[in-house]
Amino acid sequence: MLALSGTGIGRGIAIGRALILDGWQDEVPHFQIDPGDVDQEVSRFNEAIASVRLELRHLQAKLPPTAPPETGAFIDVHLLMLDDPLISHQPAESIENEKINAEWALKNHADTLVAFFDNISDPYLRTKKEDVTQVVGRIMDVLTRGEDRRRSDVAGLDQALNSRIIVARDLSPADTVMLRHRNMTAFVTRLGGPISHTAILARSLGLTAVVGLHRVIDTIRDGDQLIVDAATGTVLVSPDDRLLAQFQALQQRQHAQKQALAKLGKEKAVTRDNEEITLLANIELPEDLDALDDSGAAGVGLYRTEFLFMNRTEPPEEEEQYQAYCHVLNSVHGPVTIRTLDLGADKQVDGGRAEPTAAMTAALGLRAIRLCLSEPSLFKPQLRAILRAAVHGDARLMIPMLSSLQELEQSLALIREVCAELEREGAAFDPNIPVGGMIEVPAAAISADLFAQKLDFFSIGTNDLIQYTLAIDRVDDSVNYLYDPLHPSVLRLVHNVIQAGSEAGIPVSMCGEMAGDPDFTRLLLGLGLRQFSMEPSRLLEIRQQVRDSRLSRLPGWAERILECADSTSLHGLVDQLNAEDCA
Ligand code: PEP
Ligand code: MG
Repeated sequence: MLALSGTGIGRGIAIGRALILDGWQDEVPHFQIDPGDVDQEVSRFNEAIASVRLELRHLQAKLPPTAPPETGAFIDVHLLMLDDPLISHQPAESIENEKINAEWALKNHADTLVAFFDNISDPYLRTKKEDVTQVVGRIMDVLTRGEDRRRSDVAGLDQALNSRIIVARDLSPADTVMLRHRNMTAFVTRLGGPISHTAILARSLGLTAVVGLHRVIDTIRDGDQLIVDAATGTVLVSPDDRLLAQFQALQQRQHAQKQALAKLGKEKAVTRDNEEITLLANIELPEDLDALDDSGAAGVGLYRTEFLFMNRTEPPEEEEQYQAYCHVLNSVHGPVTIRTLDLGADKQVDGGRAEPTAAMTAALGLRAIRLCLSEPSLFKPQLRAILRAAVHGDARLMIPMLSSLQELEQSLALIREVCAELEREGAAFDPNIPVGGMIEVPAAAISADLFAQKLDFFSIGTNDLIQYTLAIDRVDDSVNYLYDPLHPSVLRLVHNVIQAGSEAGIPVSMCGEMAGDPDFTRLLLGLGLRQFSMEPSRLLEIRQQVRDSRLSRLPGWAERILECADSTSLHGLVDQLNAEDCA
């Protein structure tokens, strides 16, 4: 057994067999072969194809009657792909003509196929790339590790592919959305951090994951039994029966606890001294609304609209956006804060690949409102759609990543321009929609008092605020260890924003991951926060924490914590605060 350690996403436990995704794309042996070895190399390649074919048929024959019907079709597609000349014949020709090893020949042709699927505009067909990657991965596995090991493993493979745990170098947010369609419940990746958008999505989709697991690709093989423990960020590879039973019992306990917590959905989020706190949900796609009902959310505090723009090559037109926003507004009882497009950095239109409409940019680059202001043809249809949809519910419009007042003024001017256009057209729209800003760049947090004069509400985006304040790229796993919501500078900025909002008389909410972590609930209440927005799956736990807290005691604690300069003592104080019995 082997234990690997990374950063856990969520607190769940997943048990299943590994399904390696695109591991072969990283490291493939590459060398010239002697002309006299060509025949042997071609035979090695052909035998690998034959071995995988046998393996897939074997897998198909062993499918239990309870396996989902698409599992068989999934294997059929892989078998068909094995017959495709690009995979089964052309690499052999390259071995002969170019005198290169089989793995390299296969990789070259597979890359061509993957690029072909990447360029297909139909989002469904584009997902077929995953099938190519998986088939090629299987062949590569036989070639690089020998077929004996594979054959002996095949007998132990889980029958239902959707109970497999994805193992990959990295997953883009768009790929993670695709996992939902495959009903997969867990993944582990070599790259990634706790507040990357992939991690955030994983939480909201209820996936269990460990990211930043450096040795994952070298040490986990397709079909290995895995235990993924997100609470500790541990992945156990090939655990023994005793450990397996232990984790299965733990998994069942977690399930029972979740069901007990679910009953809280109907209870109010009131503190012990009767202060009601507003708990809202973050959503990424209209489909996320299903999770809202059971969570008891009072509305949507953050609707990340950029996910409507992903997994496609053309941005959605105004009408499509309008329909999507109307659907959300009609389905939610309570306010819905629609955030304008936050594309760029790790959120690209086409699953992380460069696109003409949104160039590859880093976190400090042309992202969010900067990108929108530089491309009015992308931004204006969205503003029009939001303003039109706003007549169907309690909508608010929120601008991400503001860093200067000029940017804010430019955005407000564009909103006025769009209102005038809609007016001229005689369209139904809400000219008085509240306009708020995300405070997630230190510049805005420091000057929150100035922004408060021009905005109707604030929402603190701690994911970016922490990234920019501590200068740690949220997707770079090598600096994960520096991520600290309790860093004194972060706490001071959060406090400053809450105070500025309160002095200006505008509501302040928090929609970063910090708002959904029960370890910080009491401290944030003590700092004066009264609105929390989070992934729906976090709401019940936060509701419990609110109900277990006595608000009158918290400002004193918050003051002591704000004054504490030493990080270890500060963390200790927060632990003490959380351990306090407020009965
Ligand atoms: C944030 O930055 O905290 C936030 C909520 O926005 P996003 O995670 O989408 O950048
Ligand atoms: Mg943000």
